[in-house]
Amino acid sequence: MLREAGEILKNGGLVAFPTETVYGLGGDALNPTSSKKIYAAKGRPSDNPLIVHIYRFEDIYKIVKEVPDICKKLADQFWPGPLTMILEKSDAVPFETTGGLGTVAVRFPSHKTAQKLIEYAGGYVAAPSANVSGRPSPTVFKYVDEDMNGKIEAIIDGGEVGIGLESTIIDLTVDPPQILRPGFITKEKFEEIISKVDVDITTMKGDTGKAPKAPGMKYRHYAPKGDLTIVSGKPESVVSYINEQVAKDKAAGEKVGIICTDELKAGYLGADCVKSAGSRTDEEAIARHLYTMLRQFDDENVTKMYSESFDSSGFGQAIMNRLLKAAGHKVINV
Ligand code: AMP
Ligand code: MG
Repeated sequence: MLREAGEILKNGGLVAFPTETVYGLGGDALNPTSSKKIYAAKGRPSDNPLIVHIYRFEDIYKIVKEVPDICKKLADQFWPGPLTMILEKSDAVPFETTGGLGTVAVRFPSHKTAQKLIEYAGGYVAAPSANVSGRPSPTVFKYVDEDMNGKIEAIIDGGEVGIGLESTIIDLTVDPPQILRPGFITKEKFEEIISKVDVDITTMKGDTGKAPKAPGMKYRHYAPKGDLTIVSGKPESVVSYINEQVAKDKAAGEKVGIICTDELKAGYLGADCVKSAGSRTDEEAIARHLYTMLRQFDDENVTKMYSESFDSSGFGQAIMNRLLKAAGHKVINV
């Protein structure tokens, strides 16, 4: 089965597959026609570059101009795993894959199915998240199938993914290196290995007037169909503010959903759906459930959503980055 899927990729077809972060939509990264097909299947703007996935470290040499020491150090520590590194690209990588950029994003995933598939495909698989552009990334087979069925040659069912948010992206072409997209590998974890790491300010702020360095981050990604507002403040104030809003929205005929934590769930009254992401102390559960909850609200045709805010340090930064984007940076402080 995986061998067949590898053949499909070698022959220029597309296969969606599980990784430890989210499901990916794979095509041969060195074949410009495959990359164009990926953009078409996702409806993704063609200036939004793709991440090239490899299944062993030594394969990186073919696709980048140079492998700096810092890349080797980070690979030693974090690969295989949920980390993407940006480096100068070699001529082997078509501009169709890099969205016209002279740099390439590289990741060596830890998911065994992903590794095998990449191996059978010849070693280099371009794979953005397997969602229609603008929708939350799929973390379960069902949502890959919903977005991609009929548009691509095959989908590999790997159950629910482990992390649930996309990889951390770090740009190694600048000094100090810069985090372009927060993820499971945090700034703090990098700084145990390299002395200084910056974070692209646009990852957490909506009104900087600057373009994000990762082209894809400028799009209103991860967006549910309904209107989402994040409510931040003391727990009891958050609950009472959301309950007041829900009462008004219901009177106006809206269908209302709430994203909350186990600790506060019982306090919410009157909404159509109240979903807990897990305990506030369990960031990994919150990350794993976030996109699925947004998708479920879409399934239930929810028109208004409120979410509790989460701690934005450590891995929480990745959660808040995605939630802020899903909400178009709409935050109410109560
Ligand atoms: P996805 O694969 O859907 O998680 O999206 C890939 C993300 O990586 C997008 O936000 C891209 O903009 C970003 N990316 C890929 N290649 C590069 C690159 N060469 N430079 C900066 N960002 C990149
Ligand atoms: Mg994506």
